Amino acid sequence: MPIYEYRCNQCAGEFEKYLPSGSTAVVCPTCESARVTRRLSLLSVRTNAASAGAAAMPMQGGGGCCGGGCGCH
Ligand SMILES: [Zn+2]
Repeated sequence: MPIYEYRCNQCAGEFEKYLPSGSTAVVCPTCESARVTRRLSLLSVRTNAASAGAAAMPMQGGGGCCGGGCGCH
């Protein structure tokens, strides 16, 4: 379950909040303003980058296909 990071447009405060799907009512815990901007979680960004890198590795090593069990040679 993702935890989103928010930045308040009112007081410029930053906070994290777990947001259940379907819920859009997010207010700043400091000033209770609803003018908040959702940011990408650093954790999820890092995870996405790691998974993307892991997914790209086999692609880059595609030349090794013939050394594997694909039976192309
Ligand atoms: Zn605020």
